[in-house]
Amino acid sequence: NYSLKQLQQIDASHHLHPFTDHKELREAGSRIITRADGPYIYDSEGNELLDGMAGLWCVAVGYGRDELADAAYKQMKELPYYNSFFKCSTPTPVLLSQKLVEIAPEGISQVFYGSSGSEANDTAVRLVRHYWALEGKPEKNCIISRKNAYHGSTVAGTSLGGMEAMHKQLGGAVPNIVHVMMPYAYELALPGESDHDFGLRAAKAVEDAILEAGADKVAAFIGEPIMGAGGVKIPPMSYWPEVERICRKYDVLLMLDEVITGYGRTGEWFAAQSFGVRPDTITTAKALTSGYQPLSALLVGDRIASTLVEKGGEFAHGYTYSGHPVACAVALANIDIIAREGLVERVKNDTGPYFAQALGERIADHPLVGEVRSFGLMGAIEIVKDKATKERFSPSGSAAVVVRDHAIDNGMMMRATGDTMILSPPLIWTRDTIDMACRRIRKALDLAEADLRR
Ligand code: PLP
Repeated sequence: NYSLKQLQQIDASHHLHPFTDHKELREAGSRIITRADGPYIYDSEGNELLDGMAGLWCVAVGYGRDELADAAYKQMKELPYYNSFFKCSTPTPVLLSQKLVEIAPEGISQVFYGSSGSEANDTAVRLVRHYWALEGKPEKNCIISRKNAYHGSTVAGTSLGGMEAMHKQLGGAVPNIVHVMMPYAYELALPGESDHDFGLRAAKAVEDAILEAGADKVAAFIGEPIMGAGGVKIPPMSYWPEVERICRKYDVLLMLDEVITGYGRTGEWFAAQSFGVRPDTITTAKALTSGYQPLSALLVGDRIASTLVEKGGEFAHGYTYSGHPVACAVALANIDIIAREGLVERVKNDTGPYFAQALGERIADHPLVGEVRSFGLMGAIEIVKDKATKERFSPSGSAAVVVRDHAIDNGMMMRATGDTMILSPPLIWTRDTIDMACRRIRKALDLAEADLRR
């Protein structure tokens, strides 16, 4: 048995964490999470925290689901692993593919597996370029993405993403990827511009980029239906249908990254359904297994799938764990829970609207809050110094960190990205859980205000 201090020391000495300042980690010591149940996580000191982030946007069905552990155990005993290379398969990825095609938006017919969202986006880049090569247009290989997007941490994921610090660190991105403006009305809409018009203007940036590169050079456009790590940026409803229209007009494929939004978060199985678009690829991971196993699924539309099957030629790409039998068994059981408990409908008809109302009535009027916004069970709170002018406390986005730290100290696990506080709770949250979250967030805002305005 190790004490907290010992674990913290070993952690700081030997464990490199993702996206972490290790000097700060050594000084502060990590919080060691030791168990979890339902919507709560518990640290080594017995503190209970309401998990407002569903782990890292993934634990859709909440913690402590024996059914998922049993599915993994059964599959491990029966067949822990076999590959899906050289024309072999195992039953669970086969059945999962059938299930995913059944719940996916119309027009999706095949599935490619990996272990993470980053890998799935890496696959997506190669797949659309492979598709255009098979179609005899290999020069159609430019991909349009957006500033501030997050598409993962592999080289291709980082290149697709629009995070400047990540590009800089990478040193050299995958060539032929360009980034256009994001549909973020709070900061980018012009004075007096309606949400609808702003959505059309943000979509026009995609058209401008296609014209600048030349439509015969552009393979695809990729975007998160709602930007997640970039700050839960929800586009106006006019945005996605217009982006789809533009893509079709110039024969550019439409790729959605639903690593966060997939499997119910927006109140439909996929956000493509919430926004009424029919993408050619959909990247998914996270809630596919509720995080109980690492697994990603790239959903592939009919257009690409039929070319692969009809034209033939090897898609020279794959992972040892593509279609991992245990991960796929857990995904099947997880999707069964989401469907059986009606979690998608609950987000759409009950908890999603209640969440929006609660944030609007109990958080939006706080003096530190510039805006609240949400879609389904995905929400954001903008932290500002001045509500009217939208002035921030500092350009570095450090005010949200003050709120976040008070939230965590008061039993509310939340994330700060820039000056935006983010919520992405498990889909099992009820109205009572939302009430509890709002009380804790309000208290954190009050305490943070006292600190920030001191
Ligand atoms: N795409 C989006 C939209 C994400 O939010 C993430 C991770 O947060 C990824 C891709 C990368 O997924 P992973 O961390 O599983 O590689």
